[in-house]
Amino acid sequence: MLYGCMGKFLFVDLTTGKFQEKELTENVARSFIGGYGIGARILYEKMAKGIDPVGPDNVLGFMTGPFTGTKVVTSCRFTVITKSPLTGYWGDSNCGGFFAEALKSCGYDGVFFTGRSLKQVYLHLEDNKPKLIEASHLSGMNTQETEATIRKEIGNPGLRLVCIGPTGEKQSLIAAIITEAGRAAGRSGVGAVMGSKNLKAFSAQGTLKVPIAKPDEVRQMNRQMILELKQAKDPGLTYMRYGTCGNVASFVESQDAPLQNWKGINEQVFPTIEKAAKISDDNVIRYQTRKFACGSCPIACGGMVSVKGSRWFLKDAHKPEYETLISFGALCLNDDIESIIKCNDICNLYGMDTISAGATVAFAMECYEKGLINRDDTGGIDLTWGNGEAIVKLLQSMTERKGFGAVLADGCRKAAERIGKGSEEFAMHVGGQEIPMHDPRFAPGYGTTYTVDPAPGRHTHGGTMGVEWGRINPRFSHLSLPEVRPHDYKNKGELHKVYSSWQHIVSTVGLCWFGSHSVFYPIEKMLNAITGWDTDIDELLLTGNRILMMRHLFNLREGFKPLDYVLPPRVVGHPPLMRGPLRNITIDIQSLREEAYKALSCDPVTGSISEKELRRLGLDNLINE
Ligand code: SF4
Repeated sequence: MLYGCMGKFLFVDLTTGKFQEKELTENVARSFIGGYGIGARILYEKMAKGIDPVGPDNVLGFMTGPFTGTKVVTSCRFTVITKSPLTGYWGDSNCGGFFAEALKSCGYDGVFFTGRSLKQVYLHLEDNKPKLIEASHLSGMNTQETEATIRKEIGNPGLRLVCIGPTGEKQSLIAAIITEAGRAAGRSGVGAVMGSKNLKAFSAQGTLKVPIAKPDEVRQMNRQMILELKQAKDPGLTYMRYGTCGNVASFVESQDAPLQNWKGINEQVFPTIEKAAKISDDNVIRYQTRKFACGSCPIACGGMVSVKGSRWFLKDAHKPEYETLISFGALCLNDDIESIIKCNDICNLYGMDTISAGATVAFAMECYEKGLINRDDTGGIDLTWGNGEAIVKLLQSMTERKGFGAVLADGCRKAAERIGKGSEEFAMHVGGQEIPMHDPRFAPGYGTTYTVDPAPGRHTHGGTMGVEWGRINPRFSHLSLPEVRPHDYKNKGELHKVYSSWQHIVSTVGLCWFGSHSVFYPIEKMLNAITGWDTDIDELLLTGNRILMMRHLFNLREGFKPLDYVLPPRVVGHPPLMRGPLRNITIDIQSLREEAYKALSCDPVTGSISEKELRRLGLDNLINE
């Protein structure tokens, strides 16, 4: 008997409309845990190299983990996996809400879509029974309308589903997949892949229970965590009071948050704390009408907001998160909070990644400032820094792929190719993916993760950024890891390997990252109690390392070389800033990358992994592939 999982996956061939089940073996479960771990192993096996990411041969997977459906604290995340059309390499995106549990309660640990449907369809799943339903009538609907229509059709007002909006249908490379009209699997261009398959939505309602090896132990640990959360200190306290918007002002002050398309504070005066405060904590919360919590989450970092007045009237829209507040705010020198709330809502309804969208708007603003584009190009929109009305207008046209929005709709790398005139200098991406809102000049570990993780430009894939600022994980005390300061550039390779491997465990079990560090979450004990295994930290670190490398192997087969993922000069401090907390900092990204690749037993130039390392990771069956 396998515990912590339903023991099988569903494969949906959208070209033929056929379904097939595949068993999940204990060996695969223990070796790759769940989420993008098992997902990477399956995509490596099922997908030929060199396929077109928006062609029928790409595979789109929705994955859960062993914690999903157990109702333990913040066990609500699912992961979407695919070959990314934005980067051309491995893609994954993680999302909360309620969908993960609904999917698993239908009897599957994950669902994979292959092929392409001739007509637009959606998949509806009920207790081991999948059904493809024609969905031409949903064409062009936003995510909220799509959810409401499918709930009505299925006759379940509480139905859980994921869907794309018009942006995904138009295959924008920065399109997101949305659930609950505002929780997003936004990164890696996963919405474009869903759109390319003519798959508008995927709904699930099930009654099947996840078998748990030691339910009493699980319940007891869960109860303890809920008690501890009631007394949580930061960061848990901030998440509970404000959500991530509580970090905006302090991160702008420390300069963890990038400003003005990563130009920093050389030229403008945005980063006075008063300005940042206008888009932070209490000034966001004053629009909140109620809290929003994902499934099994006592933290409730989300919220619903309403905006009165005629400019951008909104009722019960999702509250913008930190990444969104910075990308449409500080990155564009915009302190008009209502315009950011509106941008967040547009992205949620049309299905576009807020990080990539905001970063692409900031890119366009700098092109405008530099005279590479003008009002004739933008259709009359005045893209002066900080112009909230213009940002909203431009974003709307991006989501609809209209006018100048069509130039920007696929992110800043493509936009720079379309604009030309040297505009690539202002496109802040790694490997095609816009950089998230944490500055490697503040915590250089971000620079390592942004460029070494198989999914580039991601702040949620672990690394040394926390430990650089003193957040040491006591789990690793037996490893005698070195103590480091933010701007040390030696002895960080092993740390990167350990901390990112651990993060891959947190994500693949199906946990929310915020939950995992708001209390001391006994993840290893909980995993053992759920699955009946006898894992320990060392085994889990090896497993996390294997998961990282499985995704890297996927990339190598696609022809990846480490120099495909590099940071723009500005982001590493070339030239260094002249003012503020990050003045005179240029990070030695080359040393950081070389050490990280070395610790991972990869060649820093070719990316190749030694046979010995593949054997150590138990991936020797892939040596000659
Ligand atoms: S902490 Fe926030 S994102 Fe995480 S599960 Fe809870 S509500 Fe969702």
